[in-house]
Amino acid sequence: MTVLHESDGIDFRLVCDGCGAAVERLGANLHNWDLAWSFIKRHGWIGDRSRQGPHGCPRCTRRAAAAIDG
Ligand SMILES: [Zn+2]
Repeated sequence: MTVLHESDGIDFRLVCDGCGAAVERLGANLHNWDLAWSFIKRHGWIGDRSRQGPHGCPRCTRRAAAAIDG
């Protein structure tokens, strides 16, 4: 579970499956998952388009790329 809803049921955050880093207040700012995902993808996040993930933050993405590149 990588998308966690806040107690108000509207706001949500995205949590990285690799390191636990979170992007807060996505729901409040971007209103729905599709918009939120297209936004954070532009900021280096990778992963599945579904809410269920998995999703990786830019830091974990770089680490994985570095491991592949040696
Ligand atoms: Zn991460």
